[in-house]
Amino acid sequence: MTEKKRIVSGMRPTGALHLENYHGALKNWICLQDSHDCFFFIADWHALTSNYEDTSGIPAFTRQMIIDWLSAGLAPKKSTLFVQSHIKEHAELFLLLSMITPTPWLERNPTYKDQIDQLNSKDLSTFGFLGYPVLQAADIIIYKAQGVPVGIDQVPHIEITREIARRFNYLFGNVFPEPAAILTEMAKILGTDRRKMSKSYDNAIYLSDTPEAIMATVLKMVTDPQRARKSDPGNPDICNVYEFHRLYSPDTMTSTINEKCRSAQIGCVDCKKIMAKNLIDALAPILEKNQYFNDHPEIVDDVLAAGKKKAGRIAKETLEEVRAAIKL
Ligand code: SF4
Repeated sequence: MTEKKRIVSGMRPTGALHLENYHGALKNWICLQDSHDCFFFIADWHALTSNYEDTSGIPAFTRQMIIDWLSAGLAPKKSTLFVQSHIKEHAELFLLLSMITPTPWLERNPTYKDQIDQLNSKDLSTFGFLGYPVLQAADIIIYKAQGVPVGIDQVPHIEITREIARRFNYLFGNVFPEPAAILTEMAKILGTDRRKMSKSYDNAIYLSDTPEAIMATVLKMVTDPQRARKSDPGNPDICNVYEFHRLYSPDTMTSTINEKCRSAQIGCVDCKKIMAKNLIDALAPILEKNQYFNDHPEIVDDVLAAGKKKAGRIAKETLEEVRAAIKL
């Protein structure tokens, strides 16, 4: 039997998980856990890079994240699930890697420049924010991961991780494999106002939303902007609600909606209600499990304790090798 490839990925606990998080990463992780040796972590230290002024939400978001993961289908029997800050070796490796990482590698990181521009209400001119790709590299190579599941926009980060691993190996001997990016096929899913789905835009549908909350959010969704009245023919190709139908409604229903929209036989409110019902049905098992895990906190505690034990053992072994290689 061939050994499964090890992969590592994390998510920042900055809010409850929404559908873009699900379709953009989590769903893929759930598929990968059958074929790979998976390490998935809640990146609470990374949450500090942009949210250091108000950390009050991090404990609750960390808890909600592990519950969302378990409810959606990440299985502790298949994947190692843990919290980044529980494994202090990540910080030690981050420090050691920061000694060998040239600052121009970090300054040219495209995400760094974009985020500084986009999040201009926050002061991101910190050492931690500039250096987060080094922490990310430590998070990944500490488990000697061979792959990292990412979206296309994250590929430059994996490149920095590979460069840092290569530089370490060049300076101190071959300790780390260079992890490859495993590209995630993402379903196109936008927020209710057609912008990127995000808690800060108040345009998200969450995995833990109640049916009532989902219905209320869907009814506010932006549709074909050129369709002013029910008697106007619509264009599903430019309608966000229709994108959700593609994901959550049966194919026959989706094509009927398409025809009826183009011939003005269905109004947007009715169309949204049909979609919302299908979405609610699809998310019902996740919501039910969410409730279950909220009612059984001891199960969640056990999952995190087991993850800490397994990840901690491997991280310790790697750090022993690293210290020996550096002669510390
Ligand atoms: S009928 Fe449905 S698909 Fe057509 S524009 Fe309205 S919401 Fe969109």
